[in-house]
Amino acid sequence: MSTHLKLTPMGGVGEIGSNMFIFEDDECGFIIDCGILFPSDNCFNINYLIPNFYGIKKDKIKDIIITHGHEDHIGAIAHLIEFHPDITVHCNGFAYELIKTKIKDFNHKVFKYTETMKIGNFEIDPIHVNHSIPDTFGLSISYNEYNFFYCSDFKVDFDSPYEKPFDFEKLKKLQQGKTTVGMIDSTNILSQRKTLSEKVVLEDIEKVFEDFKDNRLFITCFSSNVHRLKSFFDVAKKYKRNIILSGRSIHKYTEIAKKLGYVDNIRIYDEDFDNITKKNNLIIISGCQGDFFSSLRRLSSNEHSRIKLNENDKVVFSSKTIPGNEKSVNRIKNNITELGADVITNSEYPFIHASGHPGQEDLKILNKKINFDHYIPIHGESYFIKKHVEFIEDPYQDKLKYLLY
Ligand SMILES: [Zn+2]
Repeated sequence: MSTHLKLTPMGGVGEIGSNMFIFEDDECGFIIDCGILFPSDNCFNINYLIPNFYGIKKDKIKDIIITHGHEDHIGAIAHLIEFHPDITVHCNGFAYELIKTKIKDFNHKVFKYTETMKIGNFEIDPIHVNHSIPDTFGLSISYNEYNFFYCSDFKVDFDSPYEKPFDFEKLKKLQQGKTTVGMIDSTNILSQRKTLSEKVVLEDIEKVFEDFKDNRLFITCFSSNVHRLKSFFDVAKKYKRNIILSGRSIHKYTEIAKKLGYVDNIRIYDEDFDNITKKNNLIIISGCQGDFFSSLRRLSSNEHSRIKLNENDKVVFSSKTIPGNEKSVNRIKNNITELGADVITNSEYPFIHASGHPGQEDLKILNKKINFDHYIPIHGESYFIKKHVEFIEDPYQDKLKYLLY
Protein backbone atom coordinates (compact mmCIF):
# COMPACT_ATOMS: atom_id res chain seq x y z
CA MET A 1 0.00 0.00 0.00
CA SER A 2 1.25 3.48 -0.86
CA THR A 3 2.49 5.58 1.98
CA HIS A 4 3.18 8.96 0.45
CA LEU A 5 -0.02 10.90 0.88
CA LYS A 6 -0.03 14.39 -0.57
CA LEU A 7 -2.69 17.08 -0.04
CA THR A 8 -2.51 20.10 -2.35
CA PRO A 9 -4.77 23.16 -2.25
CA MET A 10 -4.98 24.39 -5.87
CA GLY A 11 -7.24 27.29 -4.90
CA GLY A 12 -9.46 28.56 -2.10
CA VAL A 13 -6.74 28.71 0.57
CA GLY A 14 -5.44 32.26 0.95
CA GLU A 15 -8.27 33.54 -1.25
CA ILE A 16 -12.05 33.33 -1.41
CA GLY A 17 -13.08 31.50 -4.57
CA SER A 18 -11.58 29.12 -7.16
CA ASN A 19 -11.89 26.27 -4.67
CA MET A 20 -9.98 23.17 -5.71
CA PHE A 21 -8.09 20.55 -3.71
CA ILE A 22 -6.11 17.43 -4.66
CA PHE A 23 -5.73 14.26 -2.58
CA GLU A 24 -3.16 11.84 -4.02
CA ASP A 25 -0.75 9.07 -3.11
CA ASP A 26 1.89 7.34 -5.23
CA GLU A 27 -0.69 5.43 -7.29
CA CYS A 28 -3.86 7.42 -7.54
CA GLY A 29 -5.68 10.60 -6.58
CA PHE A 30 -8.71 12.79 -7.05
CA ILE A 31 -9.74 16.42 -7.14
CA ILE A 32 -12.37 18.11 -4.99
CA ASP A 33 -14.29 20.97 -6.67
CA CYS A 34 -13.19 23.31 -9.45
CA GLY A 35 -14.47 26.84 -8.99
CA ILE A 36 -13.92 30.33 -10.28
CA LEU A 37 -12.77 33.47 -8.51
CA PHE A 38 -14.04 36.95 -9.34
CA PRO A 39 -11.04 39.24 -9.75
CA SER A 40 -10.39 42.48 -7.90
CA ASP A 41 -11.01 45.86 -9.56
CA ASN A 42 -7.46 46.13 -10.85
CA CYS A 43 -7.82 43.06 -13.13
CA PHE A 44 -9.18 44.95 -16.14
CA ASN A 45 -11.26 43.06 -18.70
CA ILE A 46 -10.97 39.74 -16.82
CA ASN A 47 -14.34 38.16 -16.11
CA TYR A 48 -13.13 35.44 -13.77
CA LEU A 49 -10.04 33.49 -12.75
CA ILE A 50 -9.61 29.69 -12.70
CA PRO A 51 -7.18 27.45 -10.79
CA ASN A 52 -3.86 26.53 -12.42
CA PHE A 53 -4.40 22.99 -13.75
CA TYR A 54 -0.78 22.29 -14.70
CA GLY A 55 -0.03 20.61 -11.36
CA ILE A 56 -2.58 17.86 -12.11
CA LYS A 57 -0.95 14.55 -13.00
CA LYS A 58 -3.41 13.34 -15.63
CA ASP A 59 -2.05 9.80 -15.69
CA LYS A 60 -3.08 9.10 -12.09
CA ILE A 61 -5.82 11.66 -11.36
CA LYS A 62 -8.95 10.75 -13.29
CA ASP A 63 -11.76 11.81 -10.94
CA ILE A 64 -13.24 14.99 -9.50
CA ILE A 65 -15.84 15.06 -6.72
CA ILE A 66 -18.16 18.05 -6.38
CA THR A 67 -19.28 19.18 -2.91
CA HIS A 68 -22.02 21.58 -4.09
CA GLY A 69 -23.23 23.75 -6.94
CA HIS A 70 -21.92 27.24 -6.13
CA GLU A 71 -19.88 28.88 -8.89
CA ASP A 72 -16.76 29.07 -6.72
CA HIS A 73 -16.94 25.23 -6.62
CA ILE A 74 -18.14 24.28 -10.13
CA GLY A 75 -17.57 27.37 -12.29
CA ALA A 76 -14.27 26.22 -13.85
CA ILE A 77 -15.27 22.60 -14.62
CA ALA A 78 -15.68 23.24 -18.35
CA HIS A 79 -12.06 24.48 -18.45
CA LEU A 80 -10.86 21.44 -16.49
CA ILE A 81 -12.62 19.07 -18.90
CA GLU A 82 -10.99 20.91 -21.81
CA PHE A 83 -7.60 20.34 -20.12
CA HIS A 84 -8.35 16.76 -19.04
CA PRO A 85 -11.15 15.29 -21.24
CA ASP A 86 -10.96 11.83 -19.60
CA ILE A 87 -11.80 13.04 -16.11
CA THR A 88 -14.97 11.67 -14.46
CA VAL A 89 -17.14 14.17 -12.57
CA HIS A 90 -18.80 12.70 -9.46
CA CYS A 91 -21.72 14.91 -8.50
CA ASN A 92 -25.23 14.79 -7.11
CA GLY A 93 -28.50 16.73 -7.09
CA PHE A 94 -28.36 20.46 -7.64
CA ALA A 95 -24.69 20.52 -8.65
CA TYR A 96 -25.32 17.88 -11.33
CA GLU A 97 -28.23 19.84 -12.81
CA LEU A 98 -26.21 23.07 -12.81
CA ILE A 99 -23.18 21.47 -14.48
CA LYS A 100 -25.50 20.11 -17.18
CA THR A 101 -26.53 23.69 -18.01
CA LYS A 102 -22.85 24.49 -18.73
CA ILE A 103 -21.64 21.30 -20.46
CA LYS A 104 -23.90 19.09 -22.54
CA ASP A 105 -21.79 15.97 -22.62
CA PHE A 106 -19.24 14.94 -19.99
CA ASN A 107 -18.04 11.81 -18.19
CA HIS A 108 -19.96 11.73 -14.95
CA LYS A 109 -21.21 9.50 -12.18
CA VAL A 110 -24.13 10.55 -10.00
CA PHE A 111 -23.16 9.42 -6.51
CA LYS A 112 -25.70 8.10 -4.03
CA TYR A 113 -25.74 9.32 -0.44
CA THR A 114 -25.65 5.81 0.94
CA GLU A 115 -22.79 4.55 -1.22
CA THR A 116 -19.05 4.79 -0.67
CA MET A 117 -16.96 6.03 -3.62
CA LYS A 118 -13.74 4.06 -3.99
CA ILE A 119 -10.89 5.76 -5.80
CA GLY A 120 -7.57 3.91 -5.49
CA ASN A 121 -6.82 3.55 -1.78
CA PHE A 122 -9.33 6.24 -0.82
CA GLU A 123 -12.86 5.57 0.44
CA ILE A 124 -15.07 8.64 0.19
CA ASP A 125 -18.52 9.14 1.71
CA PRO A 126 -20.71 12.24 1.32
CA ILE A 127 -21.91 13.85 4.56
CA HIS A 128 -24.96 16.12 4.46
CA VAL A 129 -24.18 19.62 5.81
CA ASN A 130 -26.30 22.79 5.91
CA HIS A 131 -25.56 25.53 3.38
CA SER A 132 -27.32 28.08 1.18
CA ILE A 133 -27.84 25.74 -1.79
CA PRO A 134 -29.45 22.27 -1.55
CA ASP A 135 -27.41 19.07 -1.84
CA THR A 136 -24.26 20.34 -0.16
CA PHE A 137 -21.87 17.68 1.13
CA GLY A 138 -18.79 17.47 3.27
CA LEU A 139 -16.57 14.51 2.33
CA SER A 140 -15.45 11.81 4.74
CA ILE A 141 -12.22 10.50 3.21
CA SER A 142 -10.78 7.34 4.75
CA TYR A 143 -7.19 6.49 3.92
CA ASN A 144 -5.27 3.83 5.88
CA GLU A 145 -5.57 4.75 9.57
CA TYR A 146 -6.75 8.29 8.81
CA ASN A 147 -10.15 9.85 8.30
CA PHE A 148 -10.15 13.30 6.71
CA PHE A 149 -13.33 15.34 6.90
CA TYR A 150 -13.18 17.83 4.04
CA CYS A 151 -15.88 20.21 5.18
CA SER A 152 -16.28 22.69 2.38
CA ASP A 153 -18.89 25.49 2.72
CA PHE A 154 -21.32 24.77 5.56
CA LYS A 155 -23.13 26.01 8.63
CA VAL A 156 -24.92 24.19 11.44
CA ASP A 157 -28.68 24.71 11.25
CA PHE A 158 -30.75 22.50 13.57
CA ASP A 159 -34.01 24.36 12.82
CA SER A 160 -34.08 24.89 9.06
CA PRO A 161 -37.61 24.41 7.68
CA TYR A 162 -36.07 23.36 4.37
CA GLU A 163 -33.32 20.84 4.99
CA LYS A 164 -32.25 18.18 7.47
CA PRO A 165 -29.66 19.00 10.13
CA PHE A 166 -25.94 18.33 9.58
CA ASP A 167 -25.44 14.51 9.56
CA PHE A 168 -22.99 14.26 12.47
CA GLU A 169 -24.01 10.67 13.19
CA LYS A 170 -22.95 9.32 9.80
CA LEU A 171 -19.61 11.10 10.09
CA LYS A 172 -18.97 9.79 13.61
CA LYS A 173 -19.57 6.20 12.47
CA LEU A 174 -17.12 6.56 9.59
CA GLN A 175 -14.47 8.02 11.89
CA GLN A 176 -14.55 5.23 14.45
CA GLY A 177 -11.09 3.87 15.18
CA LYS A 178 -9.40 6.39 12.87
CA THR A 179 -7.11 9.33 13.43
CA THR A 180 -9.31 12.25 12.44
CA VAL A 181 -8.36 15.34 10.46
CA GLY A 182 -10.83 18.23 10.06
CA MET A 183 -10.44 20.44 6.99
CA ILE A 184 -12.81 23.26 7.77
CA ASP A 185 -14.32 26.38 6.11
CA SER A 186 -12.87 29.72 7.34
CA THR A 187 -15.08 32.07 5.29
CA ASN A 188 -17.09 33.40 8.25
CA ILE A 189 -14.49 33.04 11.03
CA LEU A 190 -14.65 36.75 11.89
CA SER A 191 -18.23 36.27 13.16
CA GLN A 192 -18.18 35.42 16.87
CA ARG A 193 -21.80 34.36 16.66
CA LYS A 194 -23.84 31.36 15.66
CA THR A 195 -24.90 31.79 12.04
CA LEU A 196 -28.63 32.43 11.85
CA SER A 197 -31.01 29.64 11.01
CA GLU A 198 -33.15 29.93 7.88
CA LYS A 199 -36.09 29.61 10.29
CA VAL A 200 -35.24 33.01 11.81
CA VAL A 201 -34.88 34.52 8.34
CA LEU A 202 -38.29 33.13 7.37
CA GLU A 203 -39.83 34.85 10.41
CA ASP A 204 -38.31 38.21 9.44
CA ILE A 205 -39.54 37.81 5.85
CA GLU A 206 -43.04 37.27 7.25
CA LYS A 207 -42.71 40.49 9.25
CA VAL A 208 -41.89 42.39 6.05
CA PHE A 209 -44.97 40.98 4.32
CA GLU A 210 -47.10 41.82 7.35
CA ASP A 211 -45.76 45.38 7.63
CA PHE A 212 -46.15 46.22 3.93
CA LYS A 213 -49.48 44.61 3.04
CA ASP A 214 -50.49 47.61 0.95
CA ASN A 215 -47.30 47.96 -1.03
CA ARG A 216 -45.98 46.19 -4.07
CA LEU A 217 -42.95 44.22 -2.88
CA PHE A 218 -39.66 43.59 -4.68
CA ILE A 219 -37.22 41.21 -3.05
CA THR A 220 -33.71 40.20 -4.06
CA CYS A 221 -31.29 37.54 -2.83
CA PHE A 222 -28.50 35.35 -4.25
CA SER A 223 -30.32 33.43 -6.99
CA SER A 224 -28.65 30.20 -5.90
CA ASN A 225 -30.09 30.51 -2.38
CA VAL A 226 -32.91 28.08 -3.05
CA HIS A 227 -33.97 27.86 0.63
CA ARG A 228 -34.48 31.63 0.58
CA LEU A 229 -36.48 31.46 -2.66
CA LYS A 230 -38.63 28.80 -1.03
CA SER A 231 -39.23 31.16 1.92
CA PHE A 232 -40.40 33.87 -0.49
CA PHE A 233 -42.72 31.45 -2.26
CA ASP A 234 -44.19 30.13 1.00
CA VAL A 235 -44.81 33.56 2.50
CA ALA A 236 -46.22 34.88 -0.79
CA LYS A 237 -48.70 32.01 -0.76
CA LYS A 238 -49.71 32.80 2.82
CA TYR A 239 -50.23 36.49 2.01
CA LYS A 240 -51.91 35.73 -1.35
CA ARG A 241 -49.36 37.59 -3.44
CA ASN A 242 -48.80 36.86 -7.12
CA ILE A 243 -45.23 35.74 -7.80
CA ILE A 244 -43.27 37.28 -10.66
CA LEU A 245 -39.65 36.34 -11.38
CA SER A 246 -37.35 38.86 -13.02
CA GLY A 247 -33.87 37.85 -14.13
CA ARG A 248 -32.38 34.86 -15.92
CA SER A 249 -30.57 33.40 -12.90
CA ILE A 250 -33.71 33.48 -10.71
CA HIS A 251 -35.58 31.60 -13.43
CA LYS A 252 -32.76 29.04 -13.83
CA TYR A 253 -32.49 28.14 -10.13
CA THR A 254 -36.27 28.08 -9.68
CA GLU A 255 -36.65 25.68 -12.62
CA ILE A 256 -34.04 23.27 -11.19
CA ALA A 257 -35.57 23.56 -7.70
CA LYS A 258 -38.96 22.62 -9.17
CA LYS A 259 -37.48 19.71 -11.14
CA LEU A 260 -35.80 18.29 -8.02
CA GLY A 261 -38.88 18.83 -5.86
CA TYR A 262 -37.42 21.55 -3.61
CA VAL A 263 -40.14 23.96 -4.69
CA ASP A 264 -43.82 23.17 -5.18
CA ASN A 265 -45.40 23.62 -8.54
CA ILE A 266 -46.20 27.26 -7.83
CA ARG A 267 -47.85 29.59 -10.31
CA ILE A 268 -45.35 32.09 -11.70
CA TYR A 269 -46.74 35.12 -13.51
CA ASP A 270 -45.02 36.73 -16.48
CA GLU A 271 -43.37 40.14 -16.00
CA ASP A 272 -46.02 41.63 -18.28
CA PHE A 273 -48.58 40.78 -15.59
CA ASP A 274 -47.15 43.54 -13.42
CA ASN A 275 -48.32 47.12 -13.29
CA ILE A 276 -48.31 49.74 -10.59
CA THR A 277 -51.87 49.04 -9.51
CA LYS A 278 -51.15 45.43 -8.60
CA LYS A 279 -50.22 45.92 -4.97
CA ASN A 280 -50.43 42.22 -4.21
CA ASN A 281 -47.54 41.35 -6.53
CA LEU A 282 -44.24 39.99 -5.25
CA ILE A 283 -41.42 40.52 -7.74
CA ILE A 284 -38.40 38.34 -6.97
CA ILE A 285 -35.56 39.98 -8.83
CA SER A 286 -31.91 39.08 -9.41
CA GLY A 287 -29.02 41.50 -8.91
CA CYS A 288 -28.42 41.80 -5.16
CA GLN A 289 -24.67 42.27 -5.83
CA GLY A 290 -25.18 45.20 -8.17
CA ASP A 291 -24.25 43.38 -11.38
CA PHE A 292 -24.57 45.90 -14.25
CA PHE A 293 -26.46 43.47 -16.48
CA SER A 294 -28.90 42.38 -13.76
CA SER A 295 -32.61 42.94 -13.72
CA LEU A 296 -32.42 44.92 -10.46
CA ARG A 297 -29.81 47.31 -11.88
CA ARG A 298 -32.05 47.97 -14.88
CA LEU A 299 -35.09 48.46 -12.63
CA SER A 300 -33.19 50.92 -10.42
CA SER A 301 -32.07 52.91 -13.48
CA ASN A 302 -35.60 52.99 -14.89
CA GLU A 303 -34.35 50.89 -17.83
CA HIS A 304 -36.40 47.74 -17.13
CA SER A 305 -38.48 47.13 -20.23
CA ARG A 306 -41.58 45.88 -18.41
CA ILE A 307 -41.57 47.03 -14.78
CA LYS A 308 -41.27 50.57 -13.40
CA LEU A 309 -40.76 51.57 -9.76
CA ASN A 310 -42.96 54.12 -7.99
CA GLU A 311 -43.06 55.78 -4.57
CA ASN A 312 -45.28 53.14 -2.97
CA ASP A 313 -42.88 50.30 -3.73
CA LYS A 314 -40.59 48.55 -1.23
CA VAL A 315 -37.38 46.91 -2.45
CA VAL A 316 -36.07 44.37 0.05
CA PHE A 317 -32.45 43.11 0.09
CA SER A 318 -32.42 39.62 1.63
CA SER A 319 -28.66 39.44 1.12
CA LYS A 320 -25.34 40.81 2.23
CA THR A 321 -23.01 42.75 -0.01
CA ILE A 322 -19.88 40.81 -0.91
CA PRO A 323 -16.75 42.90 -0.21
CA GLY A 324 -15.77 44.66 -3.43
CA ASN A 325 -19.38 45.10 -4.61
CA GLU A 326 -20.27 47.95 -2.24
CA LYS A 327 -20.04 50.72 -4.84
CA SER A 328 -22.33 48.98 -7.33
CA VAL A 329 -24.87 47.96 -4.68
CA ASN A 330 -24.93 51.45 -3.15
CA ARG A 331 -25.48 52.96 -6.59
CA ILE A 332 -28.54 50.74 -7.01
CA LYS A 333 -29.87 51.68 -3.56
CA ASN A 334 -29.40 55.39 -4.33
CA ASN A 335 -31.10 55.05 -7.71
CA ILE A 336 -34.08 53.22 -6.15
CA THR A 337 -34.37 56.01 -3.56
CA GLU A 338 -34.27 58.70 -6.26
CA LEU A 339 -37.15 56.96 -8.05
CA GLY A 340 -39.17 57.37 -4.82
CA ALA A 341 -39.26 53.73 -3.63
CA ASP A 342 -37.99 52.54 -0.23
CA VAL A 343 -34.96 50.29 0.21
CA ILE A 344 -35.35 47.72 3.01
CA THR A 345 -32.25 45.95 4.37
CA ASN A 346 -30.99 44.34 7.54
CA SER A 347 -30.82 47.86 9.03
CA GLU A 348 -34.62 47.65 9.43
CA TYR A 349 -35.00 43.84 9.65
CA PRO A 350 -31.81 42.46 11.25
CA PHE A 351 -32.56 38.83 10.42
CA ILE A 352 -33.59 39.27 6.77
CA HIS A 353 -30.44 37.43 5.66
CA ALA A 354 -28.32 34.60 7.06
CA SER A 355 -24.86 33.56 5.95
CA GLY A 356 -24.29 30.06 4.60
CA HIS A 357 -20.96 29.79 6.41
CA PRO A 358 -20.02 28.91 10.00
CA GLY A 359 -19.51 31.57 12.63
CA GLN A 360 -17.36 30.70 15.63
CA GLU A 361 -20.33 29.23 17.53
CA ASP A 362 -21.04 26.85 14.62
CA LEU A 363 -17.38 25.78 14.70
CA LYS A 364 -17.62 25.14 18.44
CA ILE A 365 -20.63 22.87 17.86
CA LEU A 366 -18.75 20.96 15.14
CA ASN A 367 -15.65 20.65 17.31
CA LYS A 368 -17.65 19.44 20.28
CA LYS A 369 -19.45 16.81 18.21
CA ILE A 370 -16.30 15.74 16.36
CA ASN A 371 -13.19 16.04 18.45
CA PHE A 372 -10.66 16.18 15.60
CA ASP A 373 -7.14 14.92 16.27
CA HIS A 374 -5.76 17.32 13.65
CA TYR A 375 -7.25 20.42 12.12
CA ILE A 376 -6.56 22.26 8.83
CA PRO A 377 -8.44 25.52 8.12
CA ILE A 378 -9.35 25.90 4.43
CA HIS A 379 -11.46 28.33 2.34
CA GLY A 380 -10.63 31.93 3.13
CA GLU A 381 -8.20 34.75 2.63
CA SER A 382 -4.87 34.52 4.48
CA TYR A 383 -6.16 36.75 7.28
CA PHE A 384 -9.18 34.47 7.79
CA ILE A 385 -7.04 31.34 7.84
CA LYS A 386 -4.78 32.89 10.50
CA LYS A 387 -7.80 33.92 12.60
CA HIS A 388 -9.16 30.37 12.29
CA VAL A 389 -5.85 28.95 13.55
CA GLU A 390 -5.91 31.35 16.52
CA PHE A 391 -9.50 30.39 17.28
CA ILE A 392 -8.72 26.67 17.30
CA GLU A 393 -5.56 27.12 19.35
CA ASP A 394 -7.31 29.27 21.98
CA PRO A 395 -7.40 27.05 25.09
CA TYR A 396 -10.07 29.26 26.63
CA GLN A 397 -12.58 29.12 23.79
CA ASP A 398 -14.93 26.86 25.73
CA LYS A 399 -15.13 29.40 28.52
CA LEU A 400 -15.99 32.32 26.27
CA LYS A 401 -19.63 33.25 26.11
CA TYR A 402 -20.49 34.75 22.75
CA LEU A 403 -23.78 36.28 21.86
CA LEU A 404 -26.13 33.57 20.64
CA TYR A 405 -29.25 33.99 18.52
ZN1 LIG B 1 -21.06 27.45 -1.24
